[in-house]
Amino acid sequence: MAIDSNADLIAGLVAAGYLKSEPVIRAFHNTDRKLFVPQEYADNAYLDEPLPIGQGQTISAPHMVAIMTELLQISKADKVLEIGSGSGYQAAILARLAKKVYSIEADPALARQAEQNLAAAGSKNVKVMTGDGRFGHKPAAPYARIVATCGLPDFFPELARQLKAKGIFLAPIETGYGYQDLVLARKKGKDLEKEKHGACAFVPYRSLENAARL
Ligand code: SAH
Repeated sequence: MAIDSNADLIAGLVAAGYLKSEPVIRAFHNTDRKLFVPQEYADNAYLDEPLPIGQGQTISAPHMVAIMTELLQISKADKVLEIGSGSGYQAAILARLAKKVYSIEADPALARQAEQNLAAAGSKNVKVMTGDGRFGHKPAAPYARIVATCGLPDFFPELARQLKAKGIFLAPIETGYGYQDLVLARKKGKDLEKEKHGACAFVPYRSLENAARL
């Protein structure tokens, strides 16, 4: 079967068990992945594969976006913080489920591209910012959910502080063996209760010298 539409892509993700809940499936249907993929890869937009988006970065494979979005259990009242806007695809899906998404991207060219892609997709409740995601975005804190889409060395305490009580912080955490564990952390008091959800391979977090606090 040729996979040449967003609906085909989603049908595959449902059949494989990555997409489960109605609101998340709807969010995927309302977000055309082709709008987030560079023109030269348009033919591959509906394949379950990561693709280059420039600056040595990638748009994640759809099944990974599905796994993460399902784990986040977002409600309509939630404010969500994303570290690593990339193409803006994950942010667009989060925005269909949440009240507002704040997304931080280290690379200014990618941040501009993400903003344009999000505008083309009709996502109005996403704010893209350029900077080092490590420090979060204090003015809009606390967040019900924080998600990183680059491999973090660990859960940064600056970010954990910006998470609501009982909030979820989902991140690929570097193992030291060239891949990451997808770890879901729930805030209990001052602690994070962690559970692992399998191996993954995101681009690494890059620390920015003298980054402005957003
Ligand atoms: N969520 C994206 C995929 C992101 S790829 C999508 O749906 O397309 C990971 C991104 O994290 C890259 O764009 C990379 O530039 C960004 N990144 C790396 N270090 C970062 C940092 N310190 N702060 C914010 N973003 C960072």
